[in-house]
Amino acid sequence: MGKINLLSQETIDKIAAGEVVERPASVAKELIENSIDAGATAISVEIKGGGIEYLRITDNGSGIDKDQIQIAFLRHSTSKISSAVDLDNVRSLGFRGEALSSISAVSKVELITKTKDSLLGASYIIEGAKEISLTDIGAPDGTTFIVRQLFYNTPARKKFLKSGSTEGSYVFDVVEHLALSHPEISFKFLLNGKEKLMTSGNGSLSDTIYQIYGRQIASNVLDIDYSDDKVSINGFIGQSIIARGNRAFEHFFVNQRYIKSNNLSRACEEGYYGFLMGHQYPFFVINIAFTDSAVDVNVHPTKQEVRFENESQICELLTKIVNQRLRKREDVLETHIDE
Ligand code: ADP
Ligand code: MG
Repeated sequence: MGKINLLSQETIDKIAAGEVVERPASVAKELIENSIDAGATAISVEIKGGGIEYLRITDNGSGIDKDQIQIAFLRHSTSKISSAVDLDNVRSLGFRGEALSSISAVSKVELITKTKDSLLGASYIIEGAKEISLTDIGAPDGTTFIVRQLFYNTPARKKFLKSGSTEGSYVFDVVEHLALSHPEISFKFLLNGKEKLMTSGNGSLSDTIYQIYGRQIASNVLDIDYSDDKVSINGFIGQSIIARGNRAFEHFFVNQRYIKSNNLSRACEEGYYGFLMGHQYPFFVINIAFTDSAVDVNVHPTKQEVRFENESQICELLTKIVNQRLRKREDVLETHIDE
């Protein structure tokens, strides 16, 4: 095996970056989540070259104080928790303090930020984890991150990226998911200079569904709304007329965090039993919110998987809610026909 080496900080950062930053979409996700955590009400996302060449996120959130910027880019630096105890009650989307250090280790980052209380903003440039400059600059309140040349210094990783248009579509997916989980925030998405999406941020999920998916889908969804003392489940489920060919239109948000779960998906699909054909999948946007800490968000670095204390009960509940709502709709249709 040879001599045992202690890795340099630069190498450690690059390895760690591999866990959080897989592709442009993961950069977008981390930065947009930071904007949400910073209390932004408007977030604009622009990409060129699939987000590999250029990715910009602008928000009108809290901004970062100039003297905090360098700290924010250190590994495991976060303003969102201070100890493990806080992990049980994380409500912010971020908490690992890994995104900025990881992203800046594998790209060229330019940050422009200003807090309400400071007269001037700050510009910070960091490339491949090496600080280039930190200067005062005039800027509006909020934060802009520009990430250029993702993986320019990690060619092995760059090789695994797909074409610009595929990577761009993954970024688009991320923006859509975050817009759906936060109807109270206005999202804008620009792809190679063209506006592809604009949500109003008026707080209405059905308006957001309309703005993302258009009239055909928005006018064929049924609202669901359930709550007990442990959990609330609400959102919209599509009628069979808008069934899709794959699972890409099944959206789950747990405590406003987009997650993937085969078990939850299967539970909902079971609720559609008798309403869909074998090769069809439903459209739905379902928010699940727990009143206590029954969900563990600290399972996976990208936090797309979460762990439930009572997953099987939640699954049974989902199947029932979905099925009852679809049946109720069918009753309505049948009465209509009887008349
Ligand atoms: P985490 O989100 O887990 O705290 P990050 O590395 O993503 O870690 O961010 C580090 C810190 O930088 C955050 O805790 C926050 O204080 C600050 N920060 C990052 N992005 C923004 C932003 N858009 N607006 C305000 N503060 C930000
Ligand atoms: Mg973060």
